Amino acid sequence: MTQDQSHQSPEEEFRLFRTVCKEQRIKVTPQRLEIFRTVIAAYDHPSAEDVYNRVKDRLPAISLDTVYRTLATFESGGIISRVSFCEDKTRFDPNRKPHHHLFCTVCKNLTDFYWANFDNADLPPEIPEWGYPETKHVQIRGICSHCSRERNKA
Ligand SMILES: [Zn+2]
Ligand SMILES: [Zn+2]
Repeated sequence: MTQDQSHQSPEEEFRLFRTVCKEQRIKVTPQRLEIFRTVIAAYDHPSAEDVYNRVKDRLPAISLDTVYRTLATFESGGIISRVSFCEDKTRFDPNRKPHHHLFCTVCKNLTDFYWANFDNADLPPEIPEWGYPETKHVQIRGICSHCSRERNKA
């Protein structure tokens, strides 16, 4: 699982960002662009605080609140999505390809994985009886191999 392949190239992302901003009437400002670049370059599903810490050197006037609001704007524009199951804080996800998540309950690392067989599988009959699913997402929680090695050392 090489993570570079899971994201589009920066040029593609950048083009898409401008297109979506135009469609959603989101004004492209230097601040928003910098926040976008930071989120797109992140492979770790950063929280708003993480994004703020990464941009504040380049954007000395930025506040955490502005970062929150910008991420919320990006989210409603469909540029990024929110990962809601993480225990502590909301994390943001720039990967718009259908994918699933591995969550380490020790280090809180959140890793993308792809599962075409699941994506293409027929739904069990209860689901169409229940209603209309819009998305299906698998979340696997556990202990990553790094943390389990650390644990065995102790
Ligand atoms: Zn871990
Ligand atoms: Zn993800």
